[in-house]
Amino acid sequence: MLTPGALACNHCHALVHAQSLEQLAAAARIHEERREFTAAREVWMKALALLPPESAQAEWIRSNALRLEALSGTTTAIPARNGWTSRLGPLAPLVVVLAKGKFLLALFKLKFILSLGVFVAVYWGLYGLRFGVGFAILILVHEMGHFIEIKRRGLPAEMPVFLPGLGAYVRWGALGVSVQTRSLISLAGPMAGLIGAAVCTLLWMKSGETFWIGLASLSAMLNVLNLIPVWVLDGGQAITALDKNERFMLAAVAVILAAYFAQPLFLLVAAGAGYRAFTKDLPSLPSHATTAYYSAILAGLGYVIALAPVPVAGK
Ligand SMILES: [Zn+2]
Repeated sequence: MLTPGALACNHCHALVHAQSLEQLAAAARIHEERREFTAAREVWMKALALLPPESAQAEWIRSNALRLEALSGTTTAIPARNGWTSRLGPLAPLVVVLAKGKFLLALFKLKFILSLGVFVAVYWGLYGLRFGVGFAILILVHEMGHFIEIKRRGLPAEMPVFLPGLGAYVRWGALGVSVQTRSLISLAGPMAGLIGAAVCTLLWMKSGETFWIGLASLSAMLNVLNLIPVWVLDGGQAITALDKNERFMLAAVAVILAAYFAQPLFLLVAAGAGYRAFTKDLPSLPSHATTAYYSAILAGLGYVIALAPVPVAGK
């Protein structure tokens, strides 16, 4: 799962200024694209004022502002959390490099480690250690798909947090990001999940151990469920880049996959896509590439599920 709520975790403090932040960030990104760095930085600073100073977004905006400052050659002070960044001046690029190093540190973040440990323990207790570890790794692979895609685009993200029984989520800054980009970030999780499931399938083919195909098909099913285009599921975010016709097309693809693989799970995807063809959140442009990508991931997952010797009925 992915929490696109950008500005605050669903579970903690909801941010009041979400709407205006979105607008400011979109404006700032337009300035950045036009290489108007000083103007972009000014808009980001307005956005910073609306954020809690300790939040990951604020942290990211501060380092982004430093980067823009270096690009524009201005030396205006930045209101930092404890004031030290304002005295940096020419050292600003160095700070940006140091801030990037924090990405490595983030890998060892406590919340991530603790939640991963609890997750493994719960599934170890339920189904044995091997399953607990394998299942946690596949969930992690899915989340890292999002994480890498977000980082690759230079956006702020935190390491995944695991919730036993529910899965995991990555908090990230979706400020001013286009619907296409959001959609691709949402699909990166299921795509990584498909790769993970495919690796397990190969291990099954090599070793003949049914454990591997069991793990592969269970993980593939969870990824299909995650692609139902509703709520905060990955599919719910991904479909926002598809226009009305493409949503119908996706529904049709899902019906065909349900029939071809005799897998009722895909009917849930079809129902969701059909429903979203009538919601009012249509994008300004169609996105054939995203529609094809979405469909291809679904087909790949269907293939893995169908390979399992004893197909488990959809839940
Ligand atoms: Zn996800």
